[in-house]
Amino acid sequence: MLGLYVHVPFCSAICNYCNFNRGLFDAELKARYVRALEAEIRQSTLINQSAIRNPQSAIRESDTIYFGGGTPSLLEPAEIGRIIQACRESFDVSADVEITMEANPETVNQPRLAAFREAGVNRLSYGVQSFRDEELRRLSRLHDADRARYAFAEARAAGFDNVSLDLMMWLPEQRVDDWLLSVDAAIALAPDHLSLYLLEVYPNAPLKDDMARARWSQAPDEDAEAMYLTAMERLESAGLIQYEISNVARPGRQSRHNLKYWRDGEWLGFGCGAHSTQAGRRWKNLSSTEDYVDAVDRRRPTAVEVRHMTPDEQLGDALFTGLRLTDGIDLDIVERRYNVDIWARFGKDLERFVEGGWLVREPSRLRLTRSGMLLAHEVMTVFV
Ligand code: SF4
Repeated sequence: MLGLYVHVPFCSAICNYCNFNRGLFDAELKARYVRALEAEIRQSTLINQSAIRNPQSAIRESDTIYFGGGTPSLLEPAEIGRIIQACRESFDVSADVEITMEANPETVNQPRLAAFREAGVNRLSYGVQSFRDEELRRLSRLHDADRARYAFAEARAAGFDNVSLDLMMWLPEQRVDDWLLSVDAAIALAPDHLSLYLLEVYPNAPLKDDMARARWSQAPDEDAEAMYLTAMERLESAGLIQYEISNVARPGRQSRHNLKYWRDGEWLGFGCGAHSTQAGRRWKNLSSTEDYVDAVDRRRPTAVEVRHMTPDEQLGDALFTGLRLTDGIDLDIVERRYNVDIWARFGKDLERFVEGGWLVREPSRLRLTRSGMLLAHEVMTVFV
């Protein structure tokens, strides 16, 4: 089934490390943007038809809707409800649909969360990043650790039984023990899901200048490895099982939406800069919020960078993303779908990773070991 992704590009402030497609909140632009989203979803086939040549046979059943950003929790619950309604009217949305909304702790309170739930959201993903205030200040985040804890309690009180937290490791001045304090603080809240990301300092990120001015540094590479491996062990001891390089969950609480990205699935993205993949085609919407709204208003295609992928490119992507999962790649499925013998094709290049203990070859599976996950990128480049 299809995943539906809805991008919300507004933030209350711009974090110093961020390279997502986002901008400062503007109430008037937000109102126009929500109307544009509804229109794009309702006319999704029509608007992009000429650009994408969307086949009539394309699947229209969906079991996940994901509001990502930016900060989707800056929208009003009624606006989220209108967008969900547009999805329901335009797609065959299953009864047990997973509807995730990313939220920043400082943007919510219990009545607002209850209203989001009423609107249809049944999974929350909080951008917590750290439970240490000095680290949050270095990242220029607007919340502190207490606000994050409180937001989590408010979500539970509002009836959310599926809550995920994002944490970031390898922060400026963060040592292994500092990081583990955040991991333990997250475990103490008993979330259903956690995503752990390694901070990447982009060349033009204001954080890079902040770090130079304040003489902050990142811990050595071996410490970053220790952060990752120790966190995964602690999380598993707490019942949060790793299922993807950066993600752990309680049984049955894996992100159904994100699994589509890793299991060679199909999804449609709505909103500025959103990506879509369907029937061997991949496309991206206009990145600028204004340009996107303008295109929808004028009923012009929002899709740019439309690419028809060759079977080889599709196979490469399926293997590249599938290897992110702890279960790895189901060789039977991939070989049937792409009519290829994976080992005959890539075995020579993969052998050294198997010998090094980073990759495991089972009769019908290929998967990374945990230490192999630290080298994932090297292994994956064999496929693309
Ligand atoms: S809240 Fe998220 S999307 Fe917005 S600026 Fe910060 S990191 Fe970027």
